[in-house]
Amino acid sequence: MNDMKELLRIAIQKSGRLQEGSLELLKESGLAISNGRDQLKTQARNFPVEILFLRDDDIPQYVEDRVADVGIVGENVLREKGRNNELVKRLDFAKCRLSIAVPKGAEYTGIKWLQGKNIATSYPNVVKQFLEQHQTDAGIHEISGSVEIAPGIGLADAICDIVSTGSTLLSNGLREVEVVMHSEAVLITGPALEGTKRDILDQLLFRMDAVNSAKNNKYILLNCPNDAIPKITTVIPGMNSPTIMPLNKPGWSSLHSVVNENDFWAKIDLLKACGAEGILVIPIEKMIA
Ligand code: ATP
Ligand code: ZN
Repeated sequence: MNDMKELLRIAIQKSGRLQEGSLELLKESGLAISNGRDQLKTQARNFPVEILFLRDDDIPQYVEDRVADVGIVGENVLREKGRNNELVKRLDFAKCRLSIAVPKGAEYTGIKWLQGKNIATSYPNVVKQFLEQHQTDAGIHEISGSVEIAPGIGLADAICDIVSTGSTLLSNGLREVEVVMHSEAVLITGPALEGTKRDILDQLLFRMDAVNSAKNNKYILLNCPNDAIPKITTVIPGMNSPTIMPLNKPGWSSLHSVVNENDFWAKIDLLKACGAEGILVIPIEKMIA
């Protein structure tokens, strides 16, 4: 009977920039899965989830059609496909932007420069929306790969493509002039996921939150004079309140708390100014508030 139980089917990219991050997130969420290099699908050994390996561009459609219940794609692909999907969670990896770039020597004066020009892109719908928003009329030339060579071979006047560092643009003699959208990996579902599948997804989301909060926070231990404890507590209040333990040295304590990665260095300076010593900072594996 056990093998009859319902599984949540999660579609992830078969190969490419999203695959590693997607698998890593699922594994850190406690799913025992074997790497699916040549597999079409695999089942987690300890959680009611099946992973389908698909081309990322097809995932929004498969999720809408319920071939998969959940998918992980770039926000850029989600927007381009415009399927009946729901964005459930931003996943904080595969961060990039979709930008318009023009030849380095072009005298770009603003979006109106694009009026009547030709733009090569793999994201025709996103570009069309962007142009409409800015009341600019330009031709869109859809190509599926190597977009950045289009201006050089006379195929287009500008391109719209994914940029992360900009080095690909530079080596093709192009210059980024407009950011059309920012993107990161996102978790999507089809319309109204319900019942057992919804319960499994909620469990998984809970785990993903624990993984992501842990990544953004550090465990911090320090020694301080007892009279500095109130001040230090206001600097690093932790999840509820810090743990205080007496040191063998009279008048001193060891204080344990949690600190956010983003304001970590600023806080270290404040703590030192309060008289903190022997500060240790340790990664957290999972964090549940
Ligand atoms: P194909 O589908 O033909 O394999 P693709 O461009 O869709 O090509 P990838 O290059 O693997 O596939 O990109 C997948 C997603 O990863 C993109 O849609 C985007 O969201 C994100 N991405 C792409 N390039 C970068 C980058 N340089 N840095 C961060 N994220 C990126
Ligand atoms: Zn793709």
